[in-house]
Amino acid sequence: MAEKTEAPKKDVTPLKLDPSFKYEVMKEHDGETLKICFQCGSCTSSCPTARFSDSYRPRTILRLSQLGIREKVLPSPTLWLCTACFTCTDRCPQGVEVASILRVLRNLAVNKGQVPEVFTMLASNIYETGYAYKISELRQRKRAELGLPPLPKASLDKVDKLLELAGGSKLIKSKETQ
Ligand code: SF4
Ligand code: SF4
Repeated sequence: MAEKTEAPKKDVTPLKLDPSFKYEVMKEHDGETLKICFQCGSCTSSCPTARFSDSYRPRTILRLSQLGIREKVLPSPTLWLCTACFTCTDRCPQGVEVASILRVLRNLAVNKGQVPEVFTMLASNIYETGYAYKISELRQRKRAELGLPPLPKASLDKVDKLLELAGGSKLIKSKETQ
């Protein structure tokens, strides 16, 4: 008789459930509609981003949020793939404010400093120049050669105030401390 061999043990780390997570989302404007999602999948099937991504699924993000699996939602870079086109919101038969809930989740991620590097860079560019992308001197000269007017200068004090109000300063600070 062949000797029995033990199956290799799998290293399974249980997911942490945080029942308070859904309430954090639901207390924000439009976040309260999270509770009425019944997981039909219309949002995912109509989402233009999901069509081109193997991992981005708004329905799944909402379910993970309902279940309180914070660790799979906030640090995930896929959270930032939403283009805020609102197709999901228009198509949801339950009236769930899907796009707004995704915005709430991104705001919670910002508060925790869980933001992809590219967005902290964009926020820093806006803070320093008023533009999401730094416009090089070469580009400015090219505009002049083509007879185009110089780009308008941003009011950096107003940009500073707006970033402070919108929470963008947190992004910049988290970049500075890296
Ligand atoms: S379409 Fe609405 S009800 Fe259906 S899964 Fe998406 S959010 Fe939930
Ligand atoms: S708002 Fe975001 S989640 Fe909704 S359909 Fe558009 S890209 Fe997809």
